[in-house]
Amino acid sequence: MSNQTTLGKLKLRLTPAAEKAARSGHPWVYGERIKEANRDGELGELAVIYDRNNKFLGVGLFDPESPIRVRMIHAGAPQTIDESWWLARLKSALARREGLGGDQTTGYRLISGENDGWPGLVVDRYDQTLVLKLYSGVWLPRLEEVVNRLQAELNPQRIVLRLSRNIQTVAQERFRLSDGQIIRGEPLTGPVVFLENGIRFESEVLKGQKTGFFLDQRDNRQRVGELAEGKSVLNAFSFSGGFSLYAARGGAESVTDLDISAHALEAAKRNFALNEHIPAVKECQHRCVQADAFQWVATSKERFDLVIVDPPSLAKRETERSGAISAYEDLAASGIRLLNRNGILVAASCSAHVTPQEFFGAALKAAQLSRRPFTEMDRTGHAPDHPATFTEAMYLKCIYLRFT
Ligand code: SAH
Repeated sequence: MSNQTTLGKLKLRLTPAAEKAARSGHPWVYGERIKEANRDGELGELAVIYDRNNKFLGVGLFDPESPIRVRMIHAGAPQTIDESWWLARLKSALARREGLGGDQTTGYRLISGENDGWPGLVVDRYDQTLVLKLYSGVWLPRLEEVVNRLQAELNPQRIVLRLSRNIQTVAQERFRLSDGQIIRGEPLTGPVVFLENGIRFESEVLKGQKTGFFLDQRDNRQRVGELAEGKSVLNAFSFSGGFSLYAARGGAESVTDLDISAHALEAAKRNFALNEHIPAVKECQHRCVQADAFQWVATSKERFDLVIVDPPSLAKRETERSGAISAYEDLAASGIRLLNRNGILVAASCSAHVTPQEFFGAALKAAQLSRRPFTEMDRTGHAPDHPATFTEAMYLKCIYLRFT
């Protein structure tokens, strides 16, 4: 960055396929698809892409270390990428969430990476705390300006920096930045409490998975709350009891949280305690089971009226795809086996490498093989604050099946 002016603009030309993808708005350019560069690029600098006719195609942020060599921020007519451009981009991400917050929901995603035009950068709000999570090193040299912009627009109490594992070394060695650092505002030692549709939750912002909570399942949790009255509920892969609290508030008789992590289950207990002022939550029987959920659901003799199965990503890479599809089928089959008559299965997948079609197909296959009559109630995808604008970003899917 420092000597960018002396070096002059970084100019790139791409293979025809990459040109086409970039022109249509795809945000990633892989290193092997760069045909020509006028010089070496530096981490985070602007790379200007020209097409084969030497016409401006777009602009991206360069990363010499990553297989995704350029993260596009703009394609189309030439534009000056200056402070007011970035500010307008921030404002349009915030405008997209207008109406989402309010006094009953103080936790939601403000910037969703590529899908909002900020490739590899996520900002989640938990009450007065912002969590800025970087999945790409391109933002490291620009961090100060990003933080200043967030501070000026949103005036949070603090901003927590979270770094994906792949960039922690470069962040530490070159920028003296570490995962879980408070980069602006007041210190913090533990989780932050926020509201989601009127329910209090903790988010473990300093070191929890993602940014501390799975905000992406908010709408499915709400739906589960509406289905739960009078029911016995199993929440498999419960994490901190997100689905369970909604079920309890919705009038579930009992809720079982099942997770392999004692830490997650402790958080679930604290989340129930945080909501004891809600009579239905106080009255609901809450139980925690620490076990391998794959095994537990396959062998348990218990029965439930509503079973939620929301495992972690089962395909982190393409080679794990077919194994993941059959694991989803097995999990759905186990969930169905645990259902009482008129029971409902809510099965979710967050694996980007498994398509909606493949996942829904696996769940429906399990349903057919169960030989129990069933109806499909619903299929859902991304919540409005987690938009998905290109295929690789479409990770979340969920299906609701009712069995007689
Ligand atoms: N449904 C949750 C998010 C689930 S995240 C929500 O709405 O907040 C996935 C959870 O699966 C994590 O809490 C993780 O601890 C748990 N997990 C991972 N492997 C597991 C296993 N083999 N058995 C049980 N739980 C597991």
